[in-house]
Amino acid sequence: MKCDYCEIGKGKIPLEVVYEDDQLMAVISETAASPGQISVFPKEHYTIMELVPDSLVDHIFKVANKLSTIIFETLGAQGTNIIVQNGISAGQEIPHFCVNIIPRREGDVLNFQWKPKQLMEEEMDTAHLMLKQEGDNLVIGSDKKEAVVQGKEAEKIEEKEGEENYQLKQLKRKP
Ligand SMILES: [Zn+2]
Repeated sequence: MKCDYCEIGKGKIPLEVVYEDDQLMAVISETAASPGQISVFPKEHYTIMELVPDSLVDHIFKVANKLSTIIFETLGAQGTNIIVQNGISAGQEIPHFCVNIIPRREGDVLNFQWKPKQLMEEEMDTAHLMLKQEGDNLVIGSDKKEAVVQGKEAEKIEEKEGEENYQLKQLKRKP
């Protein structure tokens, strides 16, 4: 199956490139919500953010931040939305991790806000407890993921686990 972002990364689908280095590419989005929307994605194929090595996530968001600044300065945007659609349920259509930077202006009639729902207190409490427990055990900076993804073999295993965890099989089946 061909992946659009992999094809763009290899230069097989010509798009307007804003920035490029050995690890990532930033292009003008063709399916943009507003003019000057930029898509930043790794050249290597990773379906969702959780599978991207930490150092690459760092690099991608650093570049996205710089590009957001450029959008403010050159396009005179008054704001930017920086969006990751992580998984099918989150609206992801291409199974390749991507950060979108959307230039915003007052009264541009785009809407990325959500209406707070009336939620059951018990559900909220359960969610908080479960997340807090994991949060307490979180060690930032150990970069365990990268240590695991040394060889190609390890990478394959991790991706397989990711598929099961996030039901990416469906995502991969999409054309
Ligand atoms: Zn890809």
